[in-house]
Amino acid sequence: MSIVDKLLETKQTIPSNVKLVAVSKTKPISDILEAYHAGQRSFGENKAQEMSEKYHLLPKDIEWHFIGHLQTNKVKYIAPFVNLIHSVDSLKLLQEINKEAEKNNRIIDCLLQFYIATEETKFGLDYNEAEELLKATMGKLKNIRIIGVMGMGTFTENTLLIRKEFSLLNGYFKQIKQNFFNDIEYFKEISMGMTDDYRIAIEEGSTIVRIGSAIFGSRNYT
Ligand SMILES: *Cc1c(COP(=O)(O)O)cnc(C)c1O
Repeated sequence: MSIVDKLLETKQTIPSNVKLVAVSKTKPISDILEAYHAGQRSFGENKAQEMSEKYHLLPKDIEWHFIGHLQTNKVKYIAPFVNLIHSVDSLKLLQEINKEAEKNNRIIDCLLQFYIATEETKFGLDYNEAEELLKATMGKLKNIRIIGVMGMGTFTENTLLIRKEFSLLNGYFKQIKQNFFNDIEYFKEISMGMTDDYRIAIEEGSTIVRIGSAIFGSRNYT
């Protein structure tokens, strides 16, 4: 099946109120253009320099989503154009994003990444760390906007476990909404769900799914 066919087939399984981010990491410009010409406008990357190179080569109405672990010294590569950083996992990183956003005269939207899986290799905040981060920054960082939460489920066939993790993230979202963003309309996003688990994520309240291999095929890491 072509990328276009896989994209259209995937889109049919996603309700219209859920945003699809097509994860194009490691994939060539030509693949992204195929999806673009079929109407896809949101793409996800997990390396700052790779995303910046692609940004410069591709149409400017693409929305770029940064979904990987972001080092503070790489923020400058994406700050001029990134639409949403899904992976904020420290105060230091948020302060750096704010600083680079200010330099670029922009406000950058961010999600707080939570650690919800049972795998040591994954990044993210726990609930208390997130509250500490919010207490330290609320009203202070003028060039960032926290619009929701993000998380990655465990890589497993155990769908009950995955469902529990996504439900936990939804619970964190609600609690943070209540404690910090009660009347703030823009705090509304829950980024969860990838190729193997996005259907469960949508059932558990996801508003953004990040799907790569179902659209572009499997990735070769070399
Ligand atoms: C790679 C990646 C995805 C997409 O994974 P697929 O299984 O190919 O859909 C989603 N989210 C994050 C954070 C990723 O790194």
